[in-house]
Amino acid sequence: MSSARIETVVVDGLALANQIRDELAHAIARHRAAGRGAPTLGVVLVGDDPASASYIKGKRRACESIGMDSVERRLPASAGERAVLAVVEELNRDPAVDGILVQLPLPKDVRPNTVAEAIDPAKDVDGLHPLNAGRLLLGEPGLRPCTPLGILEVLTRHDVALEGAHAVVIGRSSIVGKPVALLLQQVHATVTMCHSRTRNLAELCRLADVLVAAVGVPRLVKREWVKPGAAVIDVGVCEVDGALIGDVDTEGMLGHASLVTPHRRGVGPMTITMLLRNTLAAYEARRPA
Ligand code: NAD
Repeated sequence: MSSARIETVVVDGLALANQIRDELAHAIARHRAAGRGAPTLGVVLVGDDPASASYIKGKRRACESIGMDSVERRLPASAGERAVLAVVEELNRDPAVDGILVQLPLPKDVRPNTVAEAIDPAKDVDGLHPLNAGRLLLGEPGLRPCTPLGILEVLTRHDVALEGAHAVVIGRSSIVGKPVALLLQQVHATVTMCHSRTRNLAELCRLADVLVAAVGVPRLVKREWVKPGAAVIDVGVCEVDGALIGDVDTEGMLGHASLVTPHRRGVGPMTITMLLRNTLAAYEARRPA
């Protein structure tokens, strides 16, 4: 069956991220002009994984680009959990630090949940502390995980109707799948969560008005899985033969989906931007004018 060709919006996540960064830069300039210190992000890197080093370099540059300060604490891969927790504690106590980010993945002997629980919830700009996760579940104000926030921002800034819409989320991680499902529910979408044991995944996806793929399986979501006119968000980043590929067959969405985020310049730049926004929010909450 052939369907009418649909004009597909290919989201420019970088342009959208830059627009939001301008808004954040203006807010920070106003704080500086009022004689208050700049918001400061504390970043902890454990080990020498080149991808992690490149991510934190990107985060440092992003901070600089909007007038935000950042401090870095680097530890060797052999440091161990106690040393990592001691650094987190030092940043918790430092009144000049507003947000704390511990770059993942961590070495095997450092438990990510233990580290997340050690971060002061008021400085938890990744939104992974159990208190903030609980507040999200209860619908109370709190710091939310960055990628889910970025996804909601992409959808709302493109006027995708969410109230009453059927959103299907593939993936149930604590960083993306679960929190994005909760955020979508809070804006009154009807949410179906899918995962690796879901039966009839393609059929469920075909029911979606909004489809979020946060899996890590290259081009899992094909054109035939998508209802004509649906909005499709590709979160996945997979490396295949040295190239980065997403969870969605982007080409297959053209002329079929109403909106698609490409795997490059899609959700990625929005994630870092939401980290900046969370850090500014943490600063404003900790140091009221
Ligand atoms: P994860 O590995 O923790 O979770 C993956 C989820 O996918 C699991 O819940 C699993 O049940 C589900 N899954 C696996 N295989 C499946 C299948 N065949 N069918 C249906 N579901 C399946 O990963 P994560 O941390 O949630 O990240 C997901 C992807 O998003 C990864 O590729 C990651 O690199 C990427 N990511 C991108 C950004 C960004 O800013 N662009 C941020 C975070 C994660």
